[in-house]
Amino acid sequence: MKIVLASSNEHKVKEINSIANGYGIEFILPPDGFDPIEDGTTFEENSYIKAHAAWAITKNWALADDSGLCINALDGKPGIYSARYAETPQKRIERVLEELEGVEDRTAHFACAMTLLNPDGEIAFTYTGICEGSIITEQRGSHGFGYDPIFLLKGSDKTIAELSDEEKNKISHRSKALNAVLNYLCSSNL
Ligand code: IMP
Repeated sequence: MKIVLASSNEHKVKEINSIANGYGIEFILPPDGFDPIEDGTTFEENSYIKAHAAWAITKNWALADDSGLCINALDGKPGIYSARYAETPQKRIERVLEELEGVEDRTAHFACAMTLLNPDGEIAFTYTGICEGSIITEQRGSHGFGYDPIFLLKGSDKTIAELSDEEKNKISHRSKALNAVLNYLCSSNL
């Protein structure tokens, strides 16, 4: 079974295909030029907007995810603005660290909302995966991407950037959401 992954990010398709390995499902990219306007106000709305745009041009099963970092002391920011919080990944980390200077409550979570549409464009399944942790004061580790070097995993002494890809795929918000989608697809015998 092929499912269009509503993304233009090849790295994401590889990550998702490696988690889905063995399920008999192949995630493929939409045609070139796929670039919907993500103007929703929640991760869930944005994932629906992307899934619907991928479905509209392929009329195939379509899956989209939308994710980001939510920090409690910043009222959930950067949230849906995670990718745009500053110009570069390093500047985004620096902005978060500055905004948390002197702040005691550093708890945070990553969220990943997934929306799966069927070939009729109807919502077949949705799920939001969460990964809990806190923001440390310095950067540690060289794996992963985005805010991983400042995100200390709850119950661990490691940042996500100190985990291997395999370890991250067991605990990440994205893998939790994807596993829920895969379980739905398997139990529906499609
Ligand atoms: P996207 O919706 O998956 O493209 O993620 C939006 C932004 O959220 C990314 O550009 C990152 O800044 C942040 N983000 C999402 N997932 C992760 C993660 O697993 N690690 C670190 N940052 C993430």
